[in-house]
Amino acid sequence: MVQLIPSSEAVMQILKRTGAYREGHFVYPTGKHSPHYFQMPLAFRYYDTARVLAVALSRKFRLDRDISSQLPKVAIISPGAGGIPVAFGVREALSAEQIYWAEQEEGKRMFRQYVNQGEINPCIIVDDIIRSGKAIEETAELVKSLGATVIGCGAIVRFTNAPSSIGDVQIKALVDFDAKIYDTEDACADCKQGTPLEKVRF
Ligand SMILES: [Zn+2]
Repeated sequence: MVQLIPSSEAVMQILKRTGAYREGHFVYPTGKHSPHYFQMPLAFRYYDTARVLAVALSRKFRLDRDISSQLPKVAIISPGAGGIPVAFGVREALSAEQIYWAEQEEGKRMFRQYVNQGEINPCIIVDDIIRSGKAIEETAELVKSLGATVIGCGAIVRFTNAPSSIGDVQIKALVDFDAKIYDTEDACADCKQGTPLEKVRF
């Protein structure tokens, strides 16, 4: 079963081919510079690659006995829009009973109205990419406040400087990516070389 999960090199090839992983010289809205950029929905716009990535991630959860023993009475949770296609793909592969996605309202992460205390099954939180881990952490707090437990957590890509676990739940990722991010122009190797800049919106 383990060998059915594609290697991180194979996953990176898919991300490159679909345009979800880009190399160049990027400036984030925060002003930080980086020689690479992930725009994950570009991989999830194709049904076939979306399915390959979500099924691969689902296999990591199925191999976890604590998780597989609770299926199908499990909820798959997305912290936001980017994780929704991941959540639907993982839900399908695991035949999990429930799916939820959070949205940001006035700076606060929440579910739609009328999701009541005690209704959410034990949760697996999934996202397309974990950069700082903030979205996943806020989502874990949200489900706990509604009386649910977090039994799993994962993403297609996790930056290695993000947390490796949420509480005692380890984060599973298909790719652990060592991101190079420069806080300022002066620190940026590409600025020194005069490489043309590209501004990114997210
Ligand atoms: Zn730069």
